[in-house]
Amino acid sequence: MSSDFEIVDALFRSFVLGNAPLEHLHTGMRWAEGPVYVADARHLLFSDVPNDRILRVPDEGGISVFRQPSNHANGNTRDPRGRLITCEHGTRSVTRTELDGTVTVLADRLDSRRLNSPNDVVVKSDGSVWFTDPPYGILSDYEGDRAPSELDGCYVFRLDPEDGRLEVVADDMVKPNGLAFSTDETVLYVADSGATHDPDGPHHLRAYEVRDGRTLTRPRVVADISPGFPDGLTVDSEDYIWCSAGDGVHCLSPDGALLGRIRVPETTSNCTFGGPKRNRLFITATTSLYAIYLNRTGTEGLNTWRVRGDRTPS
Ligand code: MG
Repeated sequence: MSSDFEIVDALFRSFVLGNAPLEHLHTGMRWAEGPVYVADARHLLFSDVPNDRILRVPDEGGISVFRQPSNHANGNTRDPRGRLITCEHGTRSVTRTELDGTVTVLADRLDSRRLNSPNDVVVKSDGSVWFTDPPYGILSDYEGDRAPSELDGCYVFRLDPEDGRLEVVADDMVKPNGLAFSTDETVLYVADSGATHDPDGPHHLRAYEVRDGRTLTRPRVVADISPGFPDGLTVDSEDYIWCSAGDGVHCLSPDGALLGRIRVPETTSNCTFGGPKRNRLFITATTSLYAIYLNRTGTEGLNTWRVRGDRTPS
């Protein structure tokens, strides 16, 4: 068995492939995050937040710039029509890239007040856009533009697909960060990375019940993540949770029990399943992109969109 794994529960042994090591695909980023796999185009997109760019990694290898400047883009996902949805620190907004390549701002204010710096985003099957809004993009000029917060806290938001209304769905977290729905969309997992700026702050995953498909209720902490803190996460096709941590990616049962870890030599920010068979976990970690084949598959949805115009990184 590869030393890239740590088996905590024997079940985890069946999730990994003993002869499939962690691959170090690319480096040279300053802080890599926000991976999304684009199945129809057979490539991965991910953000390099301080370097103000989104990068593109085709299945066949190589790397190119997909978008620069990216307005310090962070989290990326796709909606049910295959359009790219992106969190931007620089514009303090969530945007949608239309099929013709134009960019539409979906949300940048709560009433008249600017958002902090949207960090990570998921889209429910009904088209609603759920995202987190911690202040990491306005605390310094490194990952955005330093500015005061105009809100009273850091919230989880839901954007209605019909009328564009923005609602606060959770206001009980310190620094809400990555998020993912369970496969049946009855549970929303949200990472709280409050420990980044307060040693006594939270470093856990919360689970909320999704009521009527649009509100959150019954919050509970399902797992403390250590070392470090949870940033991003994904849920596989049988509801096991893959969550970033200071030492790599942790695999948790749906109720939060630690089953095992993939050890990554850099602080890990996020992960997503991809590849033609959806059995390859792409991992963003500080300066690098890693990948590992697993005996698991991801759930990411429809992929009908093709990307235009990219170039070689400078
Ligand atoms: Mg994040």
